[in-house]
Amino acid sequence: MSLRVYTHSACIAHATGEGHPERPERLGAVIQALRDQMPEIDWHEAPRATRGQLLRVHSEALLRAVLDSGATESMRLDPDTVLSPESPEAALRAAGSGIAAVDAVMAAEVPVAFCAVRPPGHHATGGEAMGFCLFNNVAVAAAHALERHGLDRVAIVDFDVHHGNGTQAIFEAEPRVMYLGSHQAPLFPGTGARDERGVGNLVNLPLPAGTGGRAFREAWSERLLPELDAFQPQLLLVSAGFDAHWRDPLAQFQLDGGDFAWLTGELHAIAARHAAGRIVSTLEGGYDLRALQEGVLAHARALLGAPVSPGQAPE
Ligand SMILES: [Zn+2]
Repeated sequence: MSLRVYTHSACIAHATGEGHPERPERLGAVIQALRDQMPEIDWHEAPRATRGQLLRVHSEALLRAVLDSGATESMRLDPDTVLSPESPEAALRAAGSGIAAVDAVMAAEVPVAFCAVRPPGHHATGGEAMGFCLFNNVAVAAAHALERHGLDRVAIVDFDVHHGNGTQAIFEAEPRVMYLGSHQAPLFPGTGARDERGVGNLVNLPLPAGTGGRAFREAWSERLLPELDAFQPQLLLVSAGFDAHWRDPLAQFQLDGGDFAWLTGELHAIAARHAAGRIVSTLEGGYDLRALQEGVLAHARALLGAPVSPGQAPE
């Protein structure tokens, strides 16, 4: 079995400026690691999302702000979130990758797909770009699965170290979508308390700074994975951030590649039980290049069902 990966050179061209943690080198490092270490990958060019696909979750005003500014130099949409002249194309390709991946797994062309894209998406709300995110890539994919494929139960699993406030805000009143994940608290963006349950479709597990692999696995085993299993998702979407790695400079979890592999293996088993194995995973955060490579490789191998030992970062 091969892993399908969607990416596009426009996603590297999205320029955030000197010293910005969400930098083009991140995606370069991910692609290099996957090319070097996983020759079985089936690479696909990410298509553009259409305006109609974006409008399922985003406002016309946000589309105009991101796509129609005509900017010839970089500007900030918020203190952290940069729009460069290259960004509209990157944002369209990043959102379009999830659409194409959902179509591919729903057509049973492949069971699993990974979207190696930037900008990331999970902080973007329906109406606002924020936290390095322009469009909410995973939310656009989920809405496509509901509308185009008629699914009733789509799960979005978010293991980025930050809470996916945008994804939550978009789906908090949508019972066909479960949003479930852990994150460091307190930390940006400050949302994701346990009592944020939406219409019973949100499962938030805040964990303290310093959380290591053992506590992380226990939390997922006891609180999150049983809820996901009980939801019986027909499709698993993953907001795959690797900033919970111990090397990451923006947060203080202590995970390693083995932890990402373990969690992905658990998700693989749940997808096999309920969703004919269908998983579409999308890159979110991860700001240390070596940790990002180690995390993505561990995740990608486990998406294929391979047992993974920790510490397989390329030297
Ligand atoms: Zn993050």
